[in-house]
Amino acid sequence: MPKILLLGAPGVGKSTHSAKITEGFNIPAIATGDILRDNLKRETELGKKAKAYVEAGDLVPDDLVIALIKDRFSEDDTKNGYLLDGFPRTIAQAEELDSYLAEEGSGLDYVLYLNAPKEVLVNRISGRRLCPGCKAAFRTSEVPDGFCPGCGEELVTRKDDQAETAEKRIEVYNEQTAPLVDYYKNKGILVEFDAAHDIDTVQAEIDKALGVQ
Ligand code: AMP
Repeated sequence: MPKILLLGAPGVGKSTHSAKITEGFNIPAIATGDILRDNLKRETELGKKAKAYVEAGDLVPDDLVIALIKDRFSEDDTKNGYLLDGFPRTIAQAEELDSYLAEEGSGLDYVLYLNAPKEVLVNRISGRRLCPGCKAAFRTSEVPDGFCPGCGEELVTRKDDQAETAEKRIEVYNEQTAPLVDYYKNKGILVEFDAAHDIDTVQAEIDKALGVQ
């Protein structure tokens, strides 16, 4: 089973496509943003350290996120592949991931880069709803009643999806995460998708790239 990285700006559709890809391959999705939000909610030590950064739309320091991801990789469900969503987000994180994977004799199989113009990102972020139960992400158009079709919980808007913080997150992405596009292009494992298209069109392209029928 593959090790996949979904790369792209906030709002581009990573969670949406992550759910579809992981279901097909039966691999876990590892979303550092979800893990951090869970720690914030439970007020763990990590949550307390990460809170101010997450709420301001800044990146949490590399050492905290790297420790978090190594901890997650130690769980059994990661042995047969996984999809990374939201990690790595800096060159330092990517290098750390590379050396971690090299040590175990593996590496990423695919980097799927979802690309869309800023207006699309801003629009999607403002129409995004999240299930506090199963963490699934939806667009308002998909869930007119405002409840999770999977587990029935009332959907919420993420605090950091509010306009000002969302703008900041896109800026942070452009400065600190966008350089990863060239980083993975140079390794020859990056496939780019025009994520301004609708979900089904983009997913069909992703399936083709992954060799899914
Ligand atoms: P996301 O749900 O991926 O948009 O992440 C939400 C927030 O969690 C980000 O705005 C960051 O504050 C933090 N975060 C998630 N993943 C990382 C990461 N790999 N490195 C640093 N901060 C992260």
